[in-house]
This record gives sequence, structure tokens and C-alpha cells, in this order.
Amino acid sequence: MILGVLSDVHGNLEALEAVLGVLRDKGAARFLCCGDTVGYGPDPNRCIEAIRGLDCVGVAGNHDLAAAGTIPLRSFNSAAAVAILWTQPLLTEPNRLYLESLPLTTEAGPLLMVHSSPSAPDHWEYVLTVRGAAAEMKHYPGGVCVVGHSHQPMVVERIPGEAARLVRDQSFVIRPEAKYFINAGSVGQPRDGDARACCLLFDEGSQTMTFLRVPYDIGAVQRKIRAAGLPDYLASRLEVGR
Ligand code: ZN
Repeated sequence: MILGVLSDVHGNLEALEAVLGVLRDKGAARFLCCGDTVGYGPDPNRCIEAIRGLDCVGVAGNHDLAAAGTIPLRSFNSAAAVAILWTQPLLTEPNRLYLESLPLTTEAGPLLMVHSSPSAPDHWEYVLTVRGAAAEMKHYPGGVCVVGHSHQPMVVERIPGEAARLVRDQSFVIRPEAKYFINAGSVGQPRDGDARACCLLFDEGSQTMTFLRVPYDIGAVQRKIRAAGLPDYLASRLEVGR
């Protein structure tokens, strides 16, 4: 089975559709979503409906739960909070209930999925370093943990008896004896300086993980963000991937 791993779509339908097209072309037959399908972007309902239509295995992100009204906006920066307040009244009740129903962690075959960190899934901490990832590895028995949240693709591998290390290859094979902490990057709002949508392809047969970068119509999304009256910063950051 070939899996497509998505995270942090953030209401960006153009990026989501572009990524799904490429993943399907490469044989993805099952999809996983590490959370934050809404927030920041102009198409929350259509993105949720696309994800629901895929029968995705999913976990909740902080923006999902804030939009559903189940966590407070205290910890959100001002542009994020404005976008959540814009999103809340637009959500259809079935879509709101879907977001509310998502678990904080789940397992999809060999993959543990959580939006932020396995040590404290409801604290929404950012794991950005090898050291941080190595500390998180103490909170699951083995295998691969896939997260989102930081919008920074990252792979940390720890082989027994060795120090954890960063894997910089775009494509790599999962070693059965090693432990992995993988950030899938962001479909709808990349922040690693590459404006193209980011996702992961996992071929279970060969145990190969591959990061894909997919161009999409950024201008169309920017026009929708501006037409909706959302903060301009949410439009301008998309073209620089920051
Ligand atoms: Zn996010």
C-alpha cells in the first residue's frame, strides 16, 4: 500500500488539490492527515470535505479545535486568531462536528500520528531540533511518529546505540531497527522557504518515505484571502513560503 501523508492544509484548497493529484499519480491509495485542515486559509469547508471524502485517518490540530470552539484562542497570534474567528461562523455543523471528533493521537498501521508532540499532544509545543525530537522519542515504543504543527519538514532518525541524527535526504528508507520522528511539513502554508506545497509519500512495500514539493496556484489563494478580508500577511507569506 502507498500512503499519502498530509498536514497543515489550513484552508488552502488549491494546494490540497494539487498535492492530492500528485499523490494519486504516484499510487497513493490511503491518506493520513496530521491536523490543521482549517485556519489561515479561505476554504475551510471545502478542505474539510475533501479530507472527509478521502476517508483520511486524521488527528486534530490546534486550529481545528479552536475553529470547532473546543479550545480557547489565548495562545494564538493575532492573524491566526482573526482567521479562526472568521472561520468559526462559516463552518457547517457536520464539518464542525468532524473537527471536534478528531482524536489527538492515533495509529495508522506502523505510524503514530499526532499534530504537535507525542509527549503532550494537547500542549501544542513545537519540536524543531534533533534534541527535541530525541526527547519525544521516549514517548513511543518504536517505529515512526509523524507530526505537523511547525510547518517545517524534518526527519530525525535514531539507530540503537547511536545518537539521533537529522536525515536530509528527500527520500529515505525506514530501517526496522531505528526510531523516527518525522514532520510532514505543510500542504497549505509552508514555512521552510519553499513556497510549494509539501507532503509525504510512504511506500509500505519498500518502506520508503519521500517528501514531495508541489507547485500550485498561489495567486488564486491570495486573491481569495484578500477578498475575504483576512489579514494581508496570510496572503503575502504564501509566495515566500515563510
Ligand atoms: Zn498549522
